[in-house]
Amino acid sequence: MFIVLKNNPDPVQLESLKSWLTSKDIQIHTSEGTTTTVLGLVGDTSTIDIDIIAALGIVEDVKRIQEPFKNANRKFHPDDTVIKVGNTQIGGGNLTIMAGPCSVETEEQMVTVAKAVKASGATMLRGGAFKPRSSPYAFQGLGKEGLRLLSLAKKETGLPVISEIMEVSQLPLFDDVDIFQVGARNMQNFNLLSVLGKQDKPVLIKRGLSSTYEELLMSAEYVMASGNAQVILCERGIRTFETYTRNILDIGAIPALKKLSHLPVIIDPSHATGKWDLVPSTAMAAVAAGADGLLIEVHNDPEKALCDGPQSLKVDTFDELAQKLLAVHGFMQELEEGSS
Ligand code: PEP
Ligand code: MN
Repeated sequence: MFIVLKNNPDPVQLESLKSWLTSKDIQIHTSEGTTTTVLGLVGDTSTIDIDIIAALGIVEDVKRIQEPFKNANRKFHPDDTVIKVGNTQIGGGNLTIMAGPCSVETEEQMVTVAKAVKASGATMLRGGAFKPRSSPYAFQGLGKEGLRLLSLAKKETGLPVISEIMEVSQLPLFDDVDIFQVGARNMQNFNLLSVLGKQDKPVLIKRGLSSTYEELLMSAEYVMASGNAQVILCERGIRTFETYTRNILDIGAIPALKKLSHLPVIIDPSHATGKWDLVPSTAMAAVAAGADGLLIEVHNDPEKALCDGPQSLKVDTFDELAQKLLAVHGFMQELEEGSS
């Protein structure tokens, strides 16, 4: 971090700034020019609030050089984080396929879809019980009953489950859920993130509709700073000027996030495209680009789905896709091995 001082800074304020920084184990290297003095800070500046410095009367400008996230940063943790859930491992070269309906609707739907996606190679079952809908009149999810049906499908198939938690008060209902999903709209619900940071269970954080990589990684940092290192990042499409697709899948997020962070990166091609027929190609592109897994919406009868039917794959289309995804993943691994 660099602090550019104003001309003739008040010596008392300057001394108090320096002693505050020193108390935080920061070393200060002072460069005095003819008109400007610059303080170069060396040490762990990730916990320093840049705004506190910028607000000081003696400060002209402050520039951060190091990323503000530390726990999620690959610089401090060069190896990939691998997260164990049941018999599956997320990250570290494995391909995790999470699949299931947008919303839990009925027992028959959940059990049918769970059995089908398992047979196709999915290693986790998804299903929303609490749904963040844009309209208060749209189906809001079955709530507690939805989580009961999800547990039932888990028992029938042995697949671990992932489901969205929307607020802290829902926590006691999530005992049998294996991964907490934090939705795109809740990515910056810092209170929820901190509470999930105190749980001993993985948290998948979806990128907000218009959030930067740094903002997503700072959300991961909230969970990790509270003590939970089991965080999974999920790119699910961002808002742009395009209206044909629901969102735009940012494929570049995969190598970028994996460069910045050691956390696993999952791609959700269903919410990214909003159209089931665009899901297979984008899902395969994600695997080729190095994604650690996919989160795909699958329904036994998409035309009657209570939520996100247009982007949900039928079970047979998902089956074809899953075989292709495993093949692309295998091919990419062979390429990697050949080049190392
Ligand atoms: C979902 O996974 O069904 C969902 C609501 O996702 P997102 O938060 O990405 O919109
Ligand atoms: Mn959905």
